[in-house]
Amino acid sequence: MQEIAAKHILQRKKDSSWFGSDYNINLYQGCPHGCIYCDSRSACYGIEDFSRVRVKKDALLLLAEELRRCRKTGLAATGSMSDPYNPLEKEGRYTRGMLELLCRYRFGVSIATKSTLVLRDIDLLTEIAKHAPAIVKLTITTPKDELARVVEPHAPPSSERFAALEKLSRQGIFAGVLLMPVLPFLEDQPEQIRQLVRRCGECGAKFIYPYFGVTLRDRQREYFLAKLRDYSEVVWERYLDFGEEYQCLCPNQQKLWEIFCEECSKARIVWKMREIIALSRKEYETEQLRLF
Ligand code: SF4
Repeated sequence: MQEIAAKHILQRKKDSSWFGSDYNINLYQGCPHGCIYCDSRSACYGIEDFSRVRVKKDALLLLAEELRRCRKTGLAATGSMSDPYNPLEKEGRYTRGMLELLCRYRFGVSIATKSTLVLRDIDLLTEIAKHAPAIVKLTITTPKDELARVVEPHAPPSSERFAALEKLSRQGIFAGVLLMPVLPFLEDQPEQIRQLVRRCGECGAKFIYPYFGVTLRDRQREYFLAKLRDYSEVVWERYLDFGEEYQCLCPNQQKLWEIFCEECSKARIVWKMREIIALSRKEYETEQLRLF
């Protein structure tokens, strides 16, 4: 695996509005899962040959030093720019090394992934959860494996991600689903949303966080539209109506929201960010109250 230079690994965030995370960590650059809508292909990130994975040089050494110097612990998020459980992680074990460090320095973690490889690290997630939130967000955009193969061609199929979710939940990990993007005209049939939420309920998801649409810009839009056209000329033509819009929302998003909220309520799954954050912190706040 090629190494790239890095000065910092732990990045302080401006606020904690995204799942309560205070820091961002990206050990890898690039991702081979091939999602046709991936925002990390946008020109503003300047990453060439995005499907090739590179690792940041001395990433774990740098991270250890940064964590050691941190005056305040917090929740570190990973998975925003590349999947921390890409296939090379199996051998590389950088993400596992990161979890060991977060555990040692008593940080919490919030992981976004589409990979079942996260199951390998249940032991460390359980260890972290003894002192801070350990959140796993599995991205699932459709309950249909055949459609997932089109839009996320090299990631494990949705059925495997559901199975991983179930296993994490059974082991007591705070796990849920990022339902984003929901691609207009492909993944926005009410029945797909209904099925997906019900399946999440069966798998013990604690939360689902949705976005009924997709964001598209510059070269990422070009990549997406080219792949979409290969799949279906009819759907591709419908996207042309979005023009240069950044937020391409599902035209039936209002209806989808109603169905989504109704199904989540039935399955007792939370979906509002402040409720997700509160639930993820609940037992730690109780613990603090008991101490004082
Ligand atoms: S898993 Fe995430 S980072 Fe990787 S290609 Fe898909 S959307 Fe992009």
